[in-house]
Amino acid sequence: MWALLQENLEKNSISLREVEEPQPGIGEVKIRVRAAGICGTDIHGISSLNPPVILGHEFSGEVVEIGQEVKRIKVGDRVTSETTIYRCGVCPYCREGFFNLCPERKGIGSGANGSFAEYIVVPEFAVHVLPEKLSFEEGAVLEPLACATRGVLEQTRIGGNDKVVVLGPGPLGILVSWVAKTRGASVILVGKQEDELRFQVAKEGEVDYLLNLDEVNIKEAITQEIDPYGVDVVFECSGALPAVSLGLEVLKKRGRYVQMGIIHKPVIVDFDQYLFSRELKITGSRTQTTSSWEKAINLLENTNLPLEKIVTHILPLSQWQEGFELTKNRKAIKVVLKP
Ligand SMILES: [Zn+2]
Ligand SMILES: [Zn+2]
Repeated sequence: MWALLQENLEKNSISLREVEEPQPGIGEVKIRVRAAGICGTDIHGISSLNPPVILGHEFSGEVVEIGQEVKRIKVGDRVTSETTIYRCGVCPYCREGFFNLCPERKGIGSGANGSFAEYIVVPEFAVHVLPEKLSFEEGAVLEPLACATRGVLEQTRIGGNDKVVVLGPGPLGILVSWVAKTRGASVILVGKQEDELRFQVAKEGEVDYLLNLDEVNIKEAITQEIDPYGVDVVFECSGALPAVSLGLEVLKKRGRYVQMGIIHKPVIVDFDQYLFSRELKITGSRTQTTSSWEKAINLLENTNLPLEKIVTHILPLSQWQEGFELTKNRKAIKVVLKP
């Protein structure tokens, strides 16, 4: 089958080539991939990358074969899969359901073969059946939506009176904004001049304020128009270093900061100012847990999140380079490849 592989740790070592088709073992499910989204981490890399490996971790497809002892999933099911496909099951994190933090964790598209291929094999425990109303393309967006529900509904609790700033209007930032809106929060999404298209899409899910930091002073806009004390929660979804200081700066005392973007370098934070004097609570949100997937599916079944608006481009797998360029140059929100 054709698959897009990261051959080694060099950034430009990605190639489309023929590899052996995977077969399901005991407890495993073989899926014909119908849609696979491109993520920033496919382009910019991630520390858990273990090449040579097939990239891609946001996908949906159809079950074509099941291994022995598979009970819940059937051939023909329309499905998607969690990214964590190996965890030890005995460490303190696994025992509490935090498989995303297991030291032995393997995720598809980084530690194990991913979804930029005609077929993928994953363990049954990771598989979720798609809600009926979802297309395969929307199904490929469930993974970033589960990242958003983990950040917004599990790593911090948002209430109806909360004022929330989301930094970075990429697919994750838009989904985080929309999930926060389902809790009744006021949401301020912050981006730059080149984020015009992203702002357009964000509006489809009723975000309260869209602020362009090339045009307005964000801190002033917030303290003058929204709340003189600052906001309650910040989700940093851009991974841009200056966004971290901006996020800490706009929080009111005792506010909550959640890091969701990957910065790729160390950050220096003034503990005296932010942790001691202001009592800020700073945390992060890494990938998803099974409970965040369940919350994402639940949201889709009970609300009208316009998930289809996130997918702006659909391309055959052979045009992966074009898809990667569109993503890198912010010409797309989410590019979905069809293997
Ligand atoms: Zn991703
Ligand atoms: Zn573990």
